Amino acid sequence: MEILKNYINGQWQNSAEVNGLKIVNPANQQVLGQVPYGTNCKKDVDAATSAAKAALDGWRSTSVNERIQPLFKLKTLLEAHKRELAEIITNECGKTIGESLGELTRAIENVETACGTPALIQSEFSENIASGIDEFMIRQPVGVCACITPFNFPGMIPFWFLPYAISCGNTFIVKPSEKVPMTMNKLFQLFEQIGLPDGVINLVHGGKETVDAILDHPHISAISFVGSSAVAQYIYSRGTANGKRVQAQGGAKNPVVVLPDADLEMTAKIVADSVYGCAGQRCLAASTIITVGDGGEVRDAIIESAKSRVTGYGLAEGVEMGPVISSESKNRIEGLIQKGIDEGATAVLDGRNTRVVDYEGGNFIAPTILENVKVGGELIKTEIFGPVMSLIHLKTVDDAISFVNSGSYGNMACLFTSNGASARKFRNEAQAGNIGINIGVAAPMAQFPFSGWKDSFFGDLHGQGRHAIEFFTQTKVVVERWPSDWTRKF
Ligand code: NAD
Repeated sequence: MEILKNYINGQWQNSAEVNGLKIVNPANQQVLGQVPYGTNCKKDVDAATSAAKAALDGWRSTSVNERIQPLFKLKTLLEAHKRELAEIITNECGKTIGESLGELTRAIENVETACGTPALIQSEFSENIASGIDEFMIRQPVGVCACITPFNFPGMIPFWFLPYAISCGNTFIVKPSEKVPMTMNKLFQLFEQIGLPDGVINLVHGGKETVDAILDHPHISAISFVGSSAVAQYIYSRGTANGKRVQAQGGAKNPVVVLPDADLEMTAKIVADSVYGCAGQRCLAASTIITVGDGGEVRDAIIESAKSRVTGYGLAEGVEMGPVISSESKNRIEGLIQKGIDEGATAVLDGRNTRVVDYEGGNFIAPTILENVKVGGELIKTEIFGPVMSLIHLKTVDDAISFVNSGSYGNMACLFTSNGASARKFRNEAQAGNIGINIGVAAPMAQFPFSGWKDSFFGDLHGQGRHAIEFFTQTKVVVERWPSDWTRKF
């Protein structure tokens, strides 16, 4: 069985930890390899940080135009290896091959955006702020930075950070999810070929012990995290208590409001795609669908669209939805479905006990719809992170906006309507960092920040685009006087 190595200082190295976790294909429970996991992973973090620290001076003094050259090579390599990478993602993460290819497109867009760093990192200059005195601001790298990422987008989420961190002159450590670490090992085989000096990027594996070592390491200056809210809050608290700059993106429970004037066919399809894409394991998955007014027609259309979705192995022809990540996750989701029913909801579609021919051991749950989920109950507040739609019906758009704003998360909120005034009101009043109008997955392009509000984000600057450039640089303001008679005076 392959035991995954770390990549430190330009070398593939065995972890100091001999214990490991099995990496399992969620469609059939096939063991794909083993990832280092345990207390000795702390030594790997020490080694990676030493390498990153040693590489920092040389890299930060390399010109920004030179620093982006490896990214152009990376874009070409990612495109050339896209299918191979996508198959690895599907096999360890479960999503369909189309979804895996899609996330890699998003990764490449971040590489392209970071190639604009020479322009993005430019700063401000004021001449004569007082007679003969100039003042300007420069952006300098922060130092050694690290990212800690979740299981659901192993080929995309690290790219919200890594390309920008290095183009801004920082050195970097990636700690991927222990559930899906193989994608990052393949990516580092590509990173090896792009001409970065040793130590500029490093890869360490593991779970909580590795993360805690990153949080406590005195030579790591900034941490980017994406994962569940409880862990995001922990990362933010412990990282900032240790004096680090931290951006921590958390979980979600995304509401989608459908007004009576929404286009029926388009809305039903887009809503079902949003709920069931990646088997509901997207931080931008629609979770609670709120129909306003009568809502009967759209309800029926959404149910039909959900029913027709084909569940199975992500590499098989015609499959539209893969398994959830683990058997623990499947049990948790099925328990939440039961919780919803116990709280009074009706299971219009119940995807539990789904069997997929030839993949009987897979963690499959077919599309599920719970109608009339109790507002104020447990399920309506809990992130399910599986292919489960909660359907509720409210009277007015104001009721719907109040419901949207009553949730503790604020990752995304969407509205379906053909009325511009309703759309404008919703965009203005909904308390979420990503808003979709007639869009089911309001995923920001690489040039925009991946926003999140409330319990979906801890920090200030988000991933991607200009926010990433700001996060990965610290500003220095210089006030300068050069008297013209200076040489005569001294
Ligand atoms: P997770 O929080 O369990 O794990 C994320 C990372 O944190 C992993 O690398 C893991 O090793 C580490 N980790 C886990 N528990 C830890 C602990 N107790 N102490 C220290 N480190 C720990 O998340 P997940 O299950 O991998 O991913 C799913 C979650 O991520 C969902 O809640 C989803 O909404 C969220 N997510 C959010 C966004 C966003 O942009 N807001 C994007 C993708 C996923």
